[in-house]
Amino acid sequence: MSELDAIKIKYSPNISFVINSRAKARLGLCKKTGNGYVIEIAEILLDERTDEKHGLKNTIIHELLHTCRGCMKHTGKWAELAAKVNAAYGYSIKRTSKRDDGTIPPGFLAPAKYIIKCRGCQAEITRIKRSPLVDYPQNYRCAKCGGKLERIK
Ligand SMILES: [Zn+2]
Ligand SMILES: [Zn+2]
Repeated sequence: MSELDAIKIKYSPNISFVINSRAKARLGLCKKTGNGYVIEIAEILLDERTDEKHGLKNTIIHELLHTCRGCMKHTGKWAELAAKVNAAYGYSIKRTSKRDDGTIPPGFLAPAKYIIKCRGCQAEITRIKRSPLVDYPQNYRCAKCGGKLERIK
């Protein structure tokens, strides 16, 4: 938002953000609600394996631009503003053919370097960086079921 402020792009002052955790979710979505907007962001974009600028921030700005006046479609004013933001900050905000702003491409996430598995519910926690959890999984418990954790990769 501060990046848009700096180049005088006026997005809606009335926006709420929702994280979508469905596996095959779209990357982002912007819906008009009453006098404001709801922006949905795919949870996958919060994964540390994704590129923050070209994943999360790119998607958020794409959606923020839809809240500017007359910008619900990917043409006209929206396309002009997207080009302005891309030029100012080196984003690659693109129009998509569909209204849903694209689905998550296969191979979007780099493979995990470390995998911690819960012996209880079998949930897997993936990491690309070493951390106390990676080094000492026995000191932690599964957040979902409280089960014991072990490193399997
Ligand atoms: Zn869009
Ligand atoms: Zn568990």
